This record gives sequence, C-alpha cells and structure tokens, in this order.
Amino acid sequence: MLEKVLKPNVIEPTLIFVLAIIIWMIGAEYEAFEMLAEFMEDHESWELDELFLAVVVLGLAGFFNAYRYYSGQRKEIERRLQAESDLDWLSRHDSLTGLPNRHYLKQFIERADHSAKEDSGRKYGLVSIDLDGFKKANDLLGHAGGDKLLKEVAERITSNKAVKMAFRLGGDEFLAIVRLKQTTTLDEIARQLHRDISQPILIDGITNHIGASIGLARYPEDGDKLKDAIHYSDLALYSAKRSGKNNIASFETSMLALSIERSKLEQDLLAAMANDEIKPHYQPLIDLKTGKLRGFEALARWNRNGQGFVPPDKFISVAEDIGVITELADKLLLEACRDAKTWPDDLTLSFNLSPVQLSDRLVGLRVISTLAKAAFPPQRLEVEITESSLVQDMDTASAILKGLHNAGIRIALDDFGTGYSNLSQLSQLKFDRIKIDRCFISNFETDEKQMRIVKAILSLGEGLGLHTTAEGIEKMEQLSILKELGCQFGQGYHLGKPVDAEQTVRFIDEHLGRDKARYA
Ligand code: C2E
Ligand code: CA
Ligand code: CA
Repeated sequence: MLEKVLKPNVIEPTLIFVLAIIIWMIGAEYEAFEMLAEFMEDHESWELDELFLAVVVLGLAGFFNAYRYYSGQRKEIERRLQAESDLDWLSRHDSLTGLPNRHYLKQFIERADHSAKEDSGRKYGLVSIDLDGFKKANDLLGHAGGDKLLKEVAERITSNKAVKMAFRLGGDEFLAIVRLKQTTTLDEIARQLHRDISQPILIDGITNHIGASIGLARYPEDGDKLKDAIHYSDLALYSAKRSGKNNIASFETSMLALSIERSKLEQDLLAAMANDEIKPHYQPLIDLKTGKLRGFEALARWNRNGQGFVPPDKFISVAEDIGVITELADKLLLEACRDAKTWPDDLTLSFNLSPVQLSDRLVGLRVISTLAKAAFPPQRLEVEITESSLVQDMDTASAILKGLHNAGIRIALDDFGTGYSNLSQLSQLKFDRIKIDRCFISNFETDEKQMRIVKAILSLGEGLGLHTTAEGIEKMEQLSILKELGCQFGQGYHLGKPVDAEQTVRFIDEHLGRDKARYA
C-alpha cells in the first residue's frame, strides 16, 4: 500500500525536470538567452542583470530545498515501510520465541492446500506438542524464568533436523511439521523430540523437568488436506493427554467419532446448564460414634436428555475444559445452600471444589459471596478438595484455602491416599478433615494390606488432630470394624445413597425420628 504513495513523488519531480529541459531546449533553439542578454544591455538602467541573478540564485535554492524535501519524505516512507513490515512480522510470529504463530499457520495452511498439487509426492508428519508441568515450573520460576524455559523448548524443537517448520500456537502449545523420509519414521522423530524436551532445563540455577504430550498425524495418509491433518494431530494430542501425561499418540480414525461425541456432550452440557438440569443430590455423612446424622455431601447429577445419568467426574472435567466450571459450581453451590437451609441448623453441607477451581484465585471470594446470597452460615459449609488439585498449583490453592478458613468455612482433604500430598502439606494447609478414599475401604475387611493403610491413615488423622471420614462403606462388617478402629465419620451406600433434595428431607425426618425413638 505504501509503495503506491512513493510513485507520485518520483513522477512529479521528473515531470518538472523534463519540462525545464524542454523550455531550456526551446530557449536554446530560438537563441532566447542572446535576446535576453541584448535586452538587458539595452536597458542597463533597469538593473535587469541583478534581477536575473536573483532569479537564478532563488531557483537554485528552490531546487536544493525541493531535493531536501523529497529525500526527507523518501526516508520517512522507507521508515514506515520498515515499520509496516516489522508489524506484519510481529503479527505472524511469537515475539518470545520468534517462532511463527497461529495466524501464520492459518495463512500457511491456505497456501499449502492451494499449492498441494505441485507438492504431490511429499510426505509430512504433523507433531502437536503440549508441555506437561509448565504451569508449575512457571509458578516456581516466575514470569521471566518461564519465558526462558519456553525459549529453550522452542530451541530444542527447532534444532531437530527433521523439523521443517515449528509454530508456537499458544502458552505451552507447539506444532512441528516434519519432512518424512524413508530413513526415519514419524514415531522415531516424535520420540526424539520427546526425549529432547524432557531433558532437564537449567534456569537461574534451578533444574526443571518438563514433560510433553505429543499427538501425531501423517499428511497426506491421514488427511489429504493439511488443515485436516493438523486437526487430526490435535485430536491425537488430546487422546495422549487423556491417557495420562507424557504420552505420544498417533491419530486413529476412531478418534474422529470420539471427537464428534465429545462436542455433542459439550453442547448438551451447555444446554443442560442453561435449562438448570444439573442438580445437587445429597449423600449423608454419619457420626459413627453416636450414629447421628452429621450432614450431607452435595454430588452433582445430570440426567442427560432424560436418558440416564452422566457420571459427574465425566461432565465436571468437560465443564473444566470448556471453561464453564465456575458458572456450574456457583449454580450448584447456590442451590445446595438453599436446600441445606431447609434442614435442621446443626446439619452441615459438604461441597466439592474441582482442581481447576483451585487454581482460580477468586474462587474463595465467589464461594463466600454465594453463601451471602443464600444467607447460609459459612460455619455450616465444608469444602472438599482432592490431593491432585494441590499438586497443580500449591501456592494458589494454599491462598484460597486460607481465605476460606478465615471466613469460617471448614476444609476436607478428599480421596486421601490416592494422590501425592505429603505430610508437610497436610500440616501446612490446616485441613479439618481427611476422607479415606473408597478404594481402601472396599475390601479392607479381608485384605491385610488395605487394613494396615486404613489404620495408618486413622492414626495419622488422630496425630494431626483431624477428623477422619471413611468413604464408600457398603457393608455392615466394614462399618463395625471402622467403629472399632475409632473412625469418627462414615459415608457410603450402607449408610445412605445420594438422593435428591426432596428425598433428603424425608431421609432427615426418618433419621431424626429414629434418633428420637432410640434416645426416648
Ligand atoms: P467424591 O467426592 O469422592 O464423591 C464420592 C463418590 O462416591 C460419589 O460418586 C458417590 O456417589 C460415590 N459413593 C458414595 N458412597 C459409595 C459407596 O458406598 N459405594 C460406591 N461404589 N460409591 C459410593 P459420584 O457422585 O459419581 O461422584 C464422583 C466424583 O465426582 C466425586 O467424588 C467428586 O470428585 C466429583 N463430583 C461430584 N459432584 C461434584 C460437584 O458438584 N463438583 C465437583 N467439583 N466435583 C463433583
Ligand atoms: Ca467428595
Ligand atoms: Ca472422595
């Protein structure tokens, strides 16, 4: 666009120059200068020679000024052209790593698919890479350190000889396009990239171990359009991530069906949320020492299109992935608080916070404001968090929990024994309760090893002054042993299954009735 601006500035002075030459040539042809000289001589008294000199000098000065103006303008235009091309470069590259970005990829795909015929016979591998553990390293190193880490990863990807082009598509997401030759397979290249990225990275004296999940697709075998092949390597990456971190997965056609099913699930979930179809159900928490009802745990239930319940761990993780977990959790908590307000005042409400929520610094404030909205006392609420959510971002989680604690809300560590939390975390975070995971309770009455674990967790709880709840009590025998071992609270199908709000009220009435009868 700017080149066009340049043209008039070249043409105009040239025209003027040519015109001047023509005038001069006409003047020379008709001996105009001699005539002028004669005229000046004849009219000496008019001082025309001085006037003529002044005109010549002024003309020269004007010419010089025009030249200066023109060259200044040229420089300005060159500067603007440079800025425009810098801006264009910036818009198509990631300023941190210097790698082409998503915008560039889009243009690249359009061009590649356009010229696909000329390029026939060439085979490429698409390698979608997503770093594992980057967020944690970023928190540890700070922003500047995290930047250095990403630069180093970009360097390691591009230094692989098979990589023809590499893109940074977002935070810790990369795409490498590799040229496939007979000698090395795409799997070998991917394994090499995986090894390179996983080598320790030393930054500011700290050794970082970053992993990566990798998805692979082949062009043109998997998709004869580059756009499709890239989409497929993304699907493979998604599958690699789902099957656990640090994995490599190759695209398979079955992934397409899964992806369609998944997007249908996402749509249905959004519609269910809009129609308030996701409801809290309540499972009783029983004091094993007294047999009294202590409170309920809210468990989300979604009857998808009236055709059956979707397991909450499934739709909660979908809600996390598509960024609606905050909205869903707020709705569920508000409804649960309103239900719990109809129960007797001494009954507590337990509410699960998902791992993603615990990396959102504002979640504490939201919980507190929801309590205020429902006019539900914070002392009656207990939030349950899992060990895995602490592993993701300990500092943020710790700040959130402190805020909740200060507001008078109690905190339980859920699924205890299945995650990675250590004793120092346990004492540091001031939990009020630990919940022994169901997997230890399911057969501890017959399995010596499980029995030892249950006993160890119970004495750990006692040592730290925490209440302990055993989850998943399904049999009378399990209940009796847990009572004997001094476990204070219990939950499980044997004590009561999760039921809807209406049935919960009935359960409370029956339970209180039983209590009255027992103590009468
Ligand atoms: P959780 O917090 O450990 O919840 C206990 C799970 O064990 C529930 O499964 C409950 O129905 C089940 N359960 C209770 N007693 C027994 C028993 O005796 N035997 C067996 N086999 N199972 C029992 P559910 O409702 O499917 O929930 C699964 C997980 O989904 C929950 O595990 C929790 O982590 C998550 N979840 C459920 N509702 C919510 C929610 O509203 N928000 C969040 N963030 N997570 C939720
Ligand atoms: Ca729970
Ligand atoms: Ca649990």
